[in-house]
Amino acid sequence: MSYLSISHLQKSFNDLLALNDISLEIEKGEFICFLGPSGCGKTTLLRTICGLESQDSGSIIQDSVDISRLSAEKRDFGIVFQSYALFPNLSVFDNIAFGLVNQRRPKQEITDKVNELLSLTGLQEHAQKYPSQLSGGQQQRVALCRALAMEPGLLLLDEPLSALDAKIREHLRREICRIHRKLGLTTIMVTHDQTEAMTMADRIVVMNAGRIEHVGTPEEIYLQPASAFVADFIGTSNTLYGEIKDTSLLLPGWTAPVALVEKRTGGETTILIRPEHLTLHNEQPSGPHAQGTISDIEFLGSQLSVELKLDDHQTQSNKALKATLSLQDAHHLTLTRNCPVWISVQPNNVCL
Ligand code: ATP
Repeated sequence: MSYLSISHLQKSFNDLLALNDISLEIEKGEFICFLGPSGCGKTTLLRTICGLESQDSGSIIQDSVDISRLSAEKRDFGIVFQSYALFPNLSVFDNIAFGLVNQRRPKQEITDKVNELLSLTGLQEHAQKYPSQLSGGQQQRVALCRALAMEPGLLLLDEPLSALDAKIREHLRREICRIHRKLGLTTIMVTHDQTEAMTMADRIVVMNAGRIEHVGTPEEIYLQPASAFVADFIGTSNTLYGEIKDTSLLLPGWTAPVALVEKRTGGETTILIRPEHLTLHNEQPSGPHAQGTISDIEFLGSQLSVELKLDDHQTQSNKALKATLSLQDAHHLTLTRNCPVWISVQPNNVCL
């Protein structure tokens, strides 16, 4: 059985269905991210897991124990909030020791545990300072230590990095991953930042309007999104409308059908192609391709982002597509605004 097993959770706030039939299995030691747009129910799901909200129906089993109706104090979790929520009148040491002191643990055990966590997060020299004397990143590390001090079975992180500036955020992101690897603690993090989710999670739970849209590894979610919503939310996609006939895909404006990797049922379909999966040519290629004109070019540092207007002779429309190229690939091409280009795609990079 999974470490955390969530079945058919339902939660409403008046008329609003915040969680709509949520089922999810989380294995021991996994790092899971709940990802989705504002208001999709990520925080409500996290708060329901730890008992800060109660569900209308459905069950939560943690480590083979049904915790569905247990109060938050009786559940086995540690939580870190976006706002740090440290005690301003207590030193760093005492903030971290707080829960252990409350449990009347032996003094030496508390000192050892707090020192171990201070050293794990590089905060030793700040032990006697007060929260107001620390930077945001340092305060968040203290909050993390305080949650870890109780050695919880489940670590919950509610947008822990979103109040921090970009550089510190990136640093703390790596630090949380390192601590997770070291302690192997089952961790759930709420975020609306896809880079955070893609770089930190073993599996991502993509949510939309109270429902789970897709659960998968970052790679699965990026390369084989379960829905148009997921494809659009994670990264950038070109959306095209085509038609399947046996093992061929007819794309409007394309000179010939693209051979599909596997046979699919026919009919009209929505196709997603990632910008980095479009190949540009200065001359007409031999396989299936479309022709277009470059309407815009953006330099992104290590990549070029090229916007193309596709000449669609069939529908007489001018569709805009986005292509991204490495500087190395772009080096072999002449790419200027208004210049004509030919576009092709590998069949295995077409997501139906
Ligand atoms: P964000 O990224 O903005 O924090 P979220 O995905 O975490 O969003 P939730 O905070 O879980 O979303 O909220 C889900 C929905 O439930 C939202 O429409 C929100 O307004 C509503 N909601 C959440 N808490 C309450 C509450 N206590 N009372 C009424 N409505 C609530």
